[in-house]
Amino acid sequence: LTPEDKAVILNSIRDIPDFPQPGIIFKDITTLLSNPKAFDTLMNHLEARYKNYELDYIAGIDARGFIFGAVLADRLNIGFVPVRKKGKLPYTTVAEKYSLEYGFDEVEIHIDAFGENGSCSREEPSKVLLIDDLMATGGTAKAAASLIDKVGAKCVEACFIMELTFLNGRGCFDIPVYSVLQID
Ligand code: AMP
Repeated sequence: LTPEDKAVILNSIRDIPDFPQPGIIFKDITTLLSNPKAFDTLMNHLEARYKNYELDYIAGIDARGFIFGAVLADRLNIGFVPVRKKGKLPYTTVAEKYSLEYGFDEVEIHIDAFGENGSCSREEPSKVLLIDDLMATGGTAKAAASLIDKVGAKCVEACFIMELTFLNGRGCFDIPVYSVLQID
């Protein structure tokens, strides 16, 4: 990724102060999605990075991870799997709770999302890339990664468009973490 390309992506993302609550600077990616040059630059970069990973699936986190994940899966010609907030998936699910600043939340995945016992007609577990728009504390993605594990697949990397480095989220992962943009 050249510095120019990085700037194109970074400059397409809008900061919304005090959303959804005071003190939070919300990183709004709708302005990236509506900017074809920025979106294409980002997806070209991700496609180039992951094309030789021999992935079987992309798992995207509810809801913005669906957009980047589904486009990347299509470009790599592999399957896409949604990791959803509790109560949205219709078939049998596996769930994982994670803590928020106050209380907790829960993510779910279909039990057969990566094939029977987490593998697609081979002996080895399916190789899965996890993707979301932004890593803050890392709690959501960590829970999603353990779901992938629970259903018998292998999460080979967690990928984010943005990483809030000052929150040290990557410290909670035991798998590789990649972010396109680091925000400090
Ligand atoms: P965390 O579990 O703390 O890493 O939070 C990550 C999830 O919350 C992701 O799904 C993000 O989309 C969302 N999120 C957290 N902080 C922000 C932020 N400042 N701007 C936009 N989205 C955020």
